[in-house]
Amino acid sequence: MRSFVFDAMPSRVLFAENAIEHLPREIEQLGARRALVLSTPQQEALATDISRRLGQRSVGVYPHAVMHVPIEVARKARDEAIRLGADCVVAVGGGSTDGLGKAIALQSGLPILAIPTTYAGSEMTPIYGLTEGGAKKTGRDRRVLPKVVIYDPLLTIDLPAAMSITSGFNAIAHAAEALYAENSNPITTLMAEEGIRALAQGMPDVAKNPRGREGRSDCLYGAWLCGAVLGTTSMALHHKLCHVLGGTWNLPHAETHTVILPHAVAYNYAAAPEAMQRIERGMQTPNAASGIFDLMKQLGAPLSLKEIGMKQDDLARAASLVMEAPYYNPRPATREGILGLLNDAFFGRRP
Ligand code: NAD
Repeated sequence: MRSFVFDAMPSRVLFAENAIEHLPREIEQLGARRALVLSTPQQEALATDISRRLGQRSVGVYPHAVMHVPIEVARKARDEAIRLGADCVVAVGGGSTDGLGKAIALQSGLPILAIPTTYAGSEMTPIYGLTEGGAKKTGRDRRVLPKVVIYDPLLTIDLPAAMSITSGFNAIAHAAEALYAENSNPITTLMAEEGIRALAQGMPDVAKNPRGREGRSDCLYGAWLCGAVLGTTSMALHHKLCHVLGGTWNLPHAETHTVILPHAVAYNYAAAPEAMQRIERGMQTPNAASGIFDLMKQLGAPLSLKEIGMKQDDLARAASLVMEAPYYNPRPATREGILGLLNDAFFGRRP
């Protein structure tokens, strides 16, 4: 007999080329009059354009988002939002900018309107992260879930091809783990398979022609679905591994997700046959693990932990850290098994 819980995340999603033109209407519908626009320093020009579109309803641009939301950066941003009397934050960019918006929302309750420009998916989740004293802590709180998300594929065409590919695999990783999550359910399963299908279709187009509109649209659509399932299921071994590697050795986020994914999928292959069939159908490959690896290779993604800055001597410690706190995984995690996985990922062996 079927048995499941589906925890819907209430957000309003607009998806279209030029959807950004609806921003003033959406801000008005949110009841906001004093929006603060957030971005990274690299995306300040886009944030300034968005602030201009808001006219009187913008109190300015705060272009100081950085990776992993250091607590001092979050506090400064919150103080600035209070000083300016902001009643809403508009987060323009990827997971780092969303992360700053979420930190402000967590402390102030201000609503977030998100305009994603990568495929990380943070805009669809109630998950926040904060780094204090070198350690990144994550949590879940509905207050940080953006109320409105505007997906405009035209805003992603400047995302460099290499970043687009690793960001796409980061998204596929959310969907792969949602398929074998402890709390998977019929809705997230449909969304995850469709998200993988859309990204596997769009990524080769983006790699060939980063400014192509069809490929960008497919990838952003897939990223939405993958972010949505990340927001409402709990993740397993893959995300745990990436959290440890990123948090302890400061490895780059999307690249780490890319390199680990085929090995985490291989590790769970026999224990999650239905999930694997769905990945295989979505990607049109006979084997989920090697199919992901082959697509990475075809698209020029990094294949090994070695090439993204990990040291072989640190693998044993990483395996121990991953074993420290218990968590659900379809195939129970053993230290020996994890170390084997990490070794395969370190050398970029085809699973
Ligand atoms: P990012 O937000 O750090 O962006 C990387 C760089 O790319 C930045 O300099 C950014 O300004 C630039 N950039 C973004 N979009 C661009 C575009 N269209 N054109 C040109 N440049 C662009 O990268 P990310 O991978 O989106 O996010 C990673 C962070 O998000 C990590 O800290 C990760 O932990 C977090 N994250 C959180 C969640 C969640 O649910 N809370 C989900 C996924 C990722």
